[in-house]
Amino acid sequence: MNPICDYHMHTPLCGHAVGEPREYAERAIAVGLQEIGFSDHAPLLSHDDPKITMNMKQLPGYLEMIEAVRERFAGKLRIKIALEADYLPGYEEKTRAMLESYEYDYIIGSVHYIRRWAFDNPEEMDRWNESDVNKVYHTYFDLLRKSARSKLFNIMGHVDLVKKFGHRATDDMTGEVEETAKVFKECGVAVEINTAGLRKPVKEMYPAPWMLKIYCKAGVPLTFGSDAHDPKDVGRDFDKAVNLAKSAGYSEYLILQQRKIEKMIKL
Ligand code: ZN
Ligand code: FE
Ligand code: FE
Ligand code: ZN
Repeated sequence: MNPICDYHMHTPLCGHAVGEPREYAERAIAVGLQEIGFSDHAPLLSHDDPKITMNMKQLPGYLEMIEAVRERFAGKLRIKIALEADYLPGYEEKTRAMLESYEYDYIIGSVHYIRRWAFDNPEEMDRWNESDVNKVYHTYFDLLRKSARSKLFNIMGHVDLVKKFGHRATDDMTGEVEETAKVFKECGVAVEINTAGLRKPVKEMYPAPWMLKIYCKAGVPLTFGSDAHDPKDVGRDFDKAVNLAKSAGYSEYLILQQRKIEKMIKL
């Protein structure tokens, strides 16, 4: 098996992660990775929340910090510089300006908000009790498609995050996923296998195996991410992730540089 690149990890700047970038890089080497990418939560453009993301003033410091580890590990580990940015309807142009102000290697686009509700935040979990789960799912997939169509992102993050706490739609979501996969393909975005779901109440990677099959069939390229918020989680469960990728039909995954396809690597 070729080593898998871990394209999704955070830094303490987001206010809910631990460990210095150097420790994430050391862990990556220890578990046999050859390439990683830091994709910390981009500043929220709708409001500041120091427990969720860095703010605009901290962004230059983030870039300097990751450039410094990239330098330090040169020759031992390839390090990409990225962000995980929220898709917030109405903030597309502000988001574009932020993402164009630096030569990122890729941008992960994530839907964590439905209107102002951070549906994956444990502190806002009560809202689920008042919500129609099917409706939340339908809205979520609509937002995923809008994210891809915004052309702001290269990779779509954890594409069934709505299941995080175990809430399951009773409506059949096949049509939603097929439509979403078609849009991802048209818009040239990749999908990630995100192993963090295994560490959440749902105890399942994102996305579900049946969904990944649909993305594969539609020709949507693949990346891998641990979504580590702690150095010990870098590359975690990647053996399972590779099995999932292969059983969904994937035979290769995507390497990005300066927001373009650098190469594909065989699984
Ligand atoms: Zn986070
Ligand atoms: Fe996320
Ligand atoms: Fe993340
Ligand atoms: Zn994430």
